[in-house]
Amino acid sequence: ILQLYGPLDQFGASYRSLQKNFIDLERLLDVFKEPVEIQDKPDAEPMVINGGEVVFENVSFSYKPQNPNLKSVSFKIPPGKKLALVGPSGGGKSTILRLLFRFYDPTQGRIMIDGQDIKYVTQSSLRRLIGIVPQDTALFNETIKHNIAYGHIGQDHKSAESGCGLNYKTESTSPPKIADVTESKDAGCLDDEDLEVDSRIQAAAEAAQIHEIVTRFPNGYATRVGERGLLMSGGEKQRIAIARTILKNPPILLLDEATSALDTHTEREIQNSIDATSKGRTTLMIAHRLSTIVDADEILVIQRGEIAEQGSHEELMQAGGIYASMWMQQLREGRTPTGSNGVSEKESS
Ligand code: ATP
Repeated sequence: ILQLYGPLDQFGASYRSLQKNFIDLERLLDVFKEPVEIQDKPDAEPMVINGGEVVFENVSFSYKPQNPNLKSVSFKIPPGKKLALVGPSGGGKSTILRLLFRFYDPTQGRIMIDGQDIKYVTQSSLRRLIGIVPQDTALFNETIKHNIAYGHIGQDHKSAESGCGLNYKTESTSPPKIADVTESKDAGCLDDEDLEVDSRIQAAAEAAQIHEIVTRFPNGYATRVGERGLLMSGGEKQRIAIARTILKNPPILLLDEATSALDTHTEREIQNSIDATSKGRTTLMIAHRLSTIVDADEILVIQRGEIAEQGSHEELMQAGGIYASMWMQQLREGRTPTGSNGVSEKESS
């Protein structure tokens, strides 16, 4: 057991340091698949944000040599605009998000935010600018307010620095190792009383349309979620992630739409909160249901690491290529709501 303790402790420490910035992205970023340590350059400066323009310039990337996963991908998202990524599984959509968050550096090309190559700025300043709503939100076995406020309010708090919260089992099974490694609650952790449900938390919860639901829980914001408390639905968990992002108020937003089925009503409500959250923020979104991105300023079809098609929904429908056939396919499967989401009567008939 003693022999195991060292590596486990180290594993816990590096997990906690990763998680300080980014608490529930195991799925999206797959940090455990390849724990590459990206270091700040010695002279790295904090990023200066001015609107939040994102540019990929001939970006290529390989997880393993000789096997390119992205091939010279170029695109630009003007400040406050929304770009959607669609395409077959394994095409490279998540890789684009991971590179923007700088979990890896491109093997060629560069990624710029407001004219600054993200490779040369401090990671902490980069990550502060980016909010993420992952596909599958893992909540801490903690109170609702703690789950919403984590990492934002209380950022300078002793417990945020100590990686508090990560010692708790999460509801998610991914990654299961963490729960096994660090079950105990350490002494430096945040007391619920330390964290007031102040107006900012409530405003964020209202905007994410979770406030009403929370007030119906046995102890409101003090209700504990997870294995030792209330179990929340996928839709509710996603709203917590949205509330957390609203509280963070980042100029850049990464969204990974859930693939798992939510009922149509919930799906539409979540879509409304996501739309409201992304307004005015530069947004990069992985979409699985094409109906959610008909209003995107630009859509990229990513296939085998390349941009296969590019344009607005109307342009891509007119082009009659991959996007148009994906749309028709979803329509046949009944996955594309008709009418209010941009499908004309002709298309839906
Ligand atoms: P999906 O829609 O299924 O999430 P995607 O378009 O997001 O797929 P990516 O996850 O970006 O695709 O993967 C692109 C390619 O890179 C795939 O072939 C995948 O197997 C590979 N890949 C992803 N992560 C790693 C990794 N950590 N190590 C090696 N290869 C990887």
